[in-house]
Amino acid sequence: MRLRNNPKAYEIMNENSDFVVIEPENLKNNWKDIFDNDRPIYIEIGMGKGDFIFQNACNYPDINFIGIEKYPSVLAAAINKIKQKEKKVTNLRLMHYDAIELEKVFSENEVDKIFLNFSDPWPKSRHAKRRLTSNKFLDVYRKILVDDGVIEFKTDNRSLFEYSLISLNQYPMDLEYVSLDLHNSPENESNIMTEYERKFCTKGPIYKLVARYRK
Ligand code: SAM
Repeated sequence: MRLRNNPKAYEIMNENSDFVVIEPENLKNNWKDIFDNDRPIYIEIGMGKGDFIFQNACNYPDINFIGIEKYPSVLAAAINKIKQKEKKVTNLRLMHYDAIELEKVFSENEVDKIFLNFSDPWPKSRHAKRRLTSNKFLDVYRKILVDDGVIEFKTDNRSLFEYSLISLNQYPMDLEYVSLDLHNSPENESNIMTEYERKFCTKGPIYKLVARYRK
């Protein structure tokens, strides 16, 4: 997601430090403290404007959610959107961070599940390493996830989906669920849509996989 640079992005983050984490490295191994409970932690990497993670926090109050976004201007847009919501949630935090560095922020076993939604496809093969389902990223996720941690991935991009199926399967991870048309499957009943999903679901199928690291 590309948005025009917002020169006030850092200011917006700092003004909302009640739910935006400014120095997440300081919380490594202590995320339970910020939520004041030891409930499971689910993170979304590349949360965009945050509809998915906010709705999850509303629907599942017994889970702690953390939305992670690389670009400050995108995160600022998410913050403004969430602030306008009537419903307030205490089980949601947001932060600006690059997923490749998440080991600085979470210790081993600190995260229970990772959501990747409509990740950038990086279609050129020389950019394959930037895909959030490539080996380098899978190494990072494995280090911060619980032993048999789960990744849930959705996309409208068939090539990225095929690449991801192979990448996760070869890692090796166990594929627990694969749908080539999520919106016409029984699982769609509990599906929470993202901004991209709403935009692209009329143009073709939405693909989803759930994969688990082997112990
Ligand atoms: N998940 C949202 C949705 O489905 O509407 C946004 C999808 S958008 C195509 C991909 C998002 O991932 C962008 O906002 C981008 O900035 C973010 N992103 C890409 N690489 C990232 C990384 N290494 N770490 C964190 N976020 C990243």
